[in-house]
Amino acid sequence: MIYQDFPELTQLQALISELDAHAKVEIIEHIDFQELTFPIHCISLGSTAPNVPVIAYFGGVHGLEKIGTEVILAYLQILLALLNWDGEWISRLERIRLIFMPIVNPVGVYRGSRCNGNGVDLMRNAPIEGIGKTKLYSGHRISSSLPWFRGDEASMEAEAQALCRVVREQLAQSPLVIAVDLHSGFGLQDRLWFPYAGRQQPFAALPEAHALKQLFDRSYPNHFYTIEPMSHEYVINGDLWDYLYDEFQQNAQADAVFMPLTLEMGSWSWLRKSPLHLFSRHGLFHPLLPHRQQRILRRHLTLFDFLSRAALYPDHWAHLPESERIHHLQLAMKTWYD
Ligand SMILES: [Zn+2]
Repeated sequence: MIYQDFPELTQLQALISELDAHAKVEIIEHIDFQELTFPIHCISLGSTAPNVPVIAYFGGVHGLEKIGTEVILAYLQILLALLNWDGEWISRLERIRLIFMPIVNPVGVYRGSRCNGNGVDLMRNAPIEGIGKTKLYSGHRISSSLPWFRGDEASMEAEAQALCRVVREQLAQSPLVIAVDLHSGFGLQDRLWFPYAGRQQPFAALPEAHALKQLFDRSYPNHFYTIEPMSHEYVINGDLWDYLYDEFQQNAQADAVFMPLTLEMGSWSWLRKSPLHLFSRHGLFHPLLPHRQQRILRRHLTLFDFLSRAALYPDHWAHLPESERIHHLQLAMKTWYD
């Protein structure tokens, strides 16, 4: 299969060829588009025990937001190098598992389009209704030629199903799961969003979200993330993480914690620094200048490192005594829902 100009997949395949000793690599789906067939890869590093904490990284759900894929590939490259000599990382991975799905929507990344090859916005594709009825960007079923098209109500797109399968088969048995889905394009700031995207209602892990935020704020007081429920900024229908979160809550053990985070990299500041951006192929979704791109590839390493520590030492936020949970719930309600 010859892909002309698909640097992200080329980079991923080169990485995979170096990873073999450390990782389990699967092609979990093939997507046909025109004359081509595109693989969707899933890479798993670390402990294979079902009961260890898991952190999973997802990129390229919206194909034109390529920087998310690139950030994940850059992180994988670093881990690959560290695993050759850094005993600290090697022992970390004996106690946690890292999962990577860097190119969820390969046709979208290949073409530089938000939607998949069927014109569907995968992050509007889940069979779950939000309260966002009036805005086109909330997701609609009018036509696949308009952006934010939700697709068929009765059957999810193969890419969305592949993502759900990874969550169900490789994450959902774990007592502690952090998912990070990387996007770009909204606003000036980098945001970390937790559910819900579809309704202005606190999700069950709100106390844990607040405790995690407090731990991050105290450990890295100069971090630059706005941490909030996604519905604070806008409300959408068919969000995969809302859907998977509700499913997890129904099926998982009572004390299991699932923290799906969307890392929305604020790209309007890239635009402010070079307004010509708007007229480029990837518009405001991708930093164009090499030094700016490099800066973004390393910008989130502190966060990723923090998350792996938070997964290793969950007693400080994910498995709190009931009185502390209630305290965090009160603070969270005041911070986000008052
Ligand atoms: Zn996006």
